[in-house]
Amino acid sequence: MAEISKTFSELWYRVAEFRPRLSAHLVVRRHTYRNQTWFVLGDPTSTKFYRFNAAAYRFLGLLDGQRTVQEAWDVCNAQLGDDAPTQRDCLDLLAQLQLYGLLRNDLPIDIQRLRERIEQIREQRYQELTGNYLFWTVPLFNPEKFLAKFANLARVVFGRLGFVVLGILLLLALRSIIPRWDELTGSLNGVIAVDNLVWLSASFLVLKAIHELGHGFACKAYGGRVTEMGIMFMIVLPIPYCDATTSWAFANKWHRILVSSAGVMSELAVASIAAIIWSRTDAGFVHTLTYNVMFVASVGTFLFNINPLLRYDGYYILADLTEIPNLATRSHELLKWLTRRYLFGVKGEPCPPLHDRREGAIMVTHATLAFPYRLLVMVSIVGFVAQKYFVFGLLLAMFGCVMWLGTPIVKGLSYVLSEPSLQVVRVRAVSLSFGLVITVVVFLGFVPMPARVQTLGVVEPLERKTYRAPHEGFLDRSFVTNGELVSKAEPLFVMSNPEMEQQLQRAIAGVELERLRRDSGYANSTAEGQVGDSLYHDAVDRLKAMEDAMGEMYVEAPFTGYIIAPELETRIGSYFETGDTLLMLATLDEMVIRAYIDDRDFAWLFPNGIDSQESAAVHVKGRLYDHPEKVVDFDIDVVRSGQVGDRNLPFQSLGLNVQGGGIALDPTDAQGRQTLTPQWLVTLRPRTPLVERGTGLPDDPTTLSALPGTRARIRFSRPPEPLIHQWIRRLRQSLSARFEI
Ligand SMILES: [Zn+2]
Repeated sequence: MAEISKTFSELWYRVAEFRPRLSAHLVVRRHTYRNQTWFVLGDPTSTKFYRFNAAAYRFLGLLDGQRTVQEAWDVCNAQLGDDAPTQRDCLDLLAQLQLYGLLRNDLPIDIQRLRERIEQIREQRYQELTGNYLFWTVPLFNPEKFLAKFANLARVVFGRLGFVVLGILLLLALRSIIPRWDELTGSLNGVIAVDNLVWLSASFLVLKAIHELGHGFACKAYGGRVTEMGIMFMIVLPIPYCDATTSWAFANKWHRILVSSAGVMSELAVASIAAIIWSRTDAGFVHTLTYNVMFVASVGTFLFNINPLLRYDGYYILADLTEIPNLATRSHELLKWLTRRYLFGVKGEPCPPLHDRREGAIMVTHATLAFPYRLLVMVSIVGFVAQKYFVFGLLLAMFGCVMWLGTPIVKGLSYVLSEPSLQVVRVRAVSLSFGLVITVVVFLGFVPMPARVQTLGVVEPLERKTYRAPHEGFLDRSFVTNGELVSKAEPLFVMSNPEMEQQLQRAIAGVELERLRRDSGYANSTAEGQVGDSLYHDAVDRLKAMEDAMGEMYVEAPFTGYIIAPELETRIGSYFETGDTLLMLATLDEMVIRAYIDDRDFAWLFPNGIDSQESAAVHVKGRLYDHPEKVVDFDIDVVRSGQVGDRNLPFQSLGLNVQGGGIALDPTDAQGRQTLTPQWLVTLRPRTPLVERGTGLPDDPTTLSALPGTRARIRFSRPPEPLIHQWIRRLRQSLSARFEI
């Protein structure tokens, strides 16, 4: 019923002299919302019912078959004054009651006209329910008898005991999935993969059927009638539904809330059981199926069902909790009135009835948040789908733009241009509205906005020295461990080779022997002594060479740096050939960051390649995870060429399944090293050193210990440009990447 309607109606004369009365078998229930009394009138043999306010109820009560409609209305006006229902309200009320056969002494209202009116109401209701017209329903069967059989059981399930059991189930489910959280979120991208679509749809249908049966059982449990179940088609997507609307007539608001929550409760119970099974199984049919059930239940519940900003269960729960009936419609009316009154300057229209300021605040908040939230949901769904099915995502985006953005804008503008009641303030209304549109257009099309790409990087030493086995032999001992900071001249490792030691012993003995020979040679003659002397020096040289070789088996650090030797400890005592790598020492002198940029972001940042002139305009800033307070500027240095299409992630620490990682990984890769999209590897050289050298030791306060392996959040910024330009460029890049234009 429109709250702002004319007091008088041009159709009134057609009913004014009739004397209708209500059917005797109707049941009236009184509801109290926030101390305001409403009445729900229903036919106990059907699911049709009406909710109306006290004034309308007063009017209906006066229709006893003796008074005329006109007389009843006059009495109302005399008694209620301004609160009396308008002629139009009364006409609507009578027309609907008559259509549903709730009136005796039929009114002479054109039945055709009436049907149109009812159609209009019905259409409005669907539109309210769904947000647009692209829904139709196929009723399948009447579950009334089936549900009635289990009404007692349903009362237990949807009562206190049910809540306790659900609570325990949820806790158990949480406890079992938290240890496998990384795996849970890591598989998210695979859920809409082609080969999973069958499972996804099956889980969806079954879960929604359970959800709807939940509504049905709860409604039945508290005395409602559920006479229709079927399938609603959203465009082509089938969704089971159950008509539990008789619960709206429940006098106890907690019962109404319970019926609204019953769907989500049932779904969460099933999802909890699925979660427990999922956590106890490994890859396989059951594991996949339970994962899908969890996905559908959690996304469906938190994004749609429980959210009061969309017209699903959460909305009705909120309306009942706050005791604001018709929350959305009334919020919309209120916002419309506020706009007309304060923006357009329409004077003399009464504010839509409000119980108090708090109710007004809730309604305004709801009305202002609902639209942006719907857009946000739409954009996220399109984004998620487009990752995998680009063309379908694009079609969905176009459809969404028309349905959720275009239609409201066109409707709004045509309202401003042609609504008769805005006649007096037309200039102001039109200029304000177009001013708003122009502001948005100017903002999007002409105001330069920062254009940024965020990514992750890892601190790495620019140079590292590799230590190889100088000679074949055994690794006797290592003085360092992986990741350790060593100072210059600290020992690194010792190798040994028994053969070399024998050779050394022989060389020592050889020197002694040659010395004795030389001495005895000199005793014989000078010439013989000189020959002996040169042989002696040869032996000394051999010993020296041998000693040097032995000395090489003992290695010290030539500079301060970090040890990179992941397997060193396990290899002590092993035999190494000459030239085998033993460990690496990374310099601290120059640390760089190696960052990964998604293929598409890369093309967007550097449309003409990284070597082009304009790439100099790209600014790079970063923050180390260990030192988030310090922003570091970078120069882009080297790009390893030939990285397009490379999906290998050298640093597992950047993967999405690692806490704080952010690069989406391919769920089909068991090792967790394949990225979902190709990445570019860019080397970034900091303008100020990442390590401020004091003594070089970590406990030195002047040392910013950017250890190798530290992660950093990196931001690439292009020169600011209007958002529209940015979007078009992104779209073009996506298109050319997909279709290789
Ligand atoms: Zn539901």
